[in-house]
Parts: sequence; C-alpha cells; structure tokens
Amino acid sequence: MIGYKLSSTIRFFEDLRTSFFKRKLEASDLFILESKFPYYSRLSTVHKKEFCEKLEVVLTTKEFIGRGGIHMVSQEMELLIGATIVMVTFGWKKIRLPQFKRILIYPNVYYSSISKSYHKGEVNPKLGVIVVSWSSFLEGMADEKDGVNLGIHEIAHALKLENLIKSNGESDFFNPETYREYSRLAEKELEILSHDSASFFRKEGGINEHEFFAVAVENFFERPHEFFAYNPDLYGSIVRLLRQDPRVWITK
Ligand SMILES: [Zn+2]
Repeated sequence: MIGYKLSSTIRFFEDLRTSFFKRKLEASDLFILESKFPYYSRLSTVHKKEFCEKLEVVLTTKEFIGRGGIHMVSQEMELLIGATIVMVTFGWKKIRLPQFKRILIYPNVYYSSISKSYHKGEVNPKLGVIVVSWSSFLEGMADEKDGVNLGIHEIAHALKLENLIKSNGESDFFNPETYREYSRLAEKELEILSHDSASFFRKEGGINEHEFFAVAVENFFERPHEFFAYNPDLYGSIVRLLRQDPRVWITK
C-alpha cells in the first residue's frame, strides 16, 4: 500500500512537470506523422488530436539518446519511435511505459554487452531502456504489411513487462481474464510453431511466450485481416487486451 502511495505521488509530480515543460508538436512534426506514419494518417480528426496529446507526453517524459555514432537524434527518429509507443498503447488514455525512460538509438545492428551478441533491438527494464537500431527500425516500417516491425516488437516487449512492474503507478492494465484467455490461445500457437516451420507467425515467435507476444503484436498491427482470418479467437483476445482493433483503419 505504501509502495502504491509513493508511486502515485511520483506520478503526480511527473504529471505536473509534464504539464509545465511539455514538448509541443509543431507543423513540421505533424507533416512527418502524416507522411510517414500511416497509423496516424488514417485516424479521424478527434483521434488524431488524442494521438498528438499522448505523443507530446511521451516525447516530454522520455529521453532519446543517440549511440554508436549517432551524435544528434533527429526529429524523425524521435517522432517515429514516439509514435510507435503511442500506437501500441493507444487503447489506454494514460499508459506511457514509465519504466522505460530512455530510448537508445544505434545507427545499425549493435553489439550488446549484456547478451554478448549482435542485436537489432532489446528492452531492459532494470536499466529502464528500449534500444533500437535505426536502420532496422526503418526497415520494419518500410513494408507496413509484412508483419515484421522492430519498433512494434520492442515496444510490445516493454508493454508486457510494464504490466508486471508494480513500482511506478502503471501496472496490471491488462484485463486479467483477457490475459488468461490470450495466454491459453498463445500456448497452442507456440506448440504449433515448435512443429511447423510454415506457421502464420515467423519462427522467432516460437522461442518463448515473450517473443510470441511481440511477434503476435507486430502481426496484429501490420496484418490484422490475415491474422483474424488465421485465428479469430487469438486475434480477438489481443483486440480486448490492447483495447483497439487495427482492422478498423486498415482496408483489406
Ligand atoms: Zn524479441
């Protein structure tokens, strides 16, 4: 209880700080969103306003840091990564993944000293970071219908972890009953993936339940109609879990 009170107090002061020093979106930011972020350009005027308000909070509360030769984080980097966070969490008014305060951006695949291997991206809740390779991020966005999107993948990992972290006033936002239903259906898919290399989901999703969730969310946003046709129950459970249905915006 004390922990909860403390975390809601921290949250209160963070909100206060955010309202004073908010990063405001300008015309050039909106132009980038309209031309390069299809999810945004498809929204209604009302939802666009909501999206922008959320994005301003994300850009204000997170630090975007260049690594491995990126000396300056560009406007486009900040906006497109921030917009991906807003997209994945758009079903909730307040969710903004506070555990992950810093976004590290490498130009290309990078060597991770944590796992001692090359990576395109990763999340680390202890260090409070989401890491992406910018070239892989753009590659994921270039084909918006192939079900492969690094940004969505890493943010889905962060979302699933944030749901479990109780110390910062943002946890348990997944409806427990829906999550149980999702887990039951996901387990079956994991089983299929372990036998069948020609599954709807790519092989990486078969590594464990965390990778499956991230891969499923990539497909949810990029191939919603195909995903629904393949497994309507699993798709439906993610609609309820994330409180949005991308089929509304994407035509078949
Ligand atoms: Zn992953």
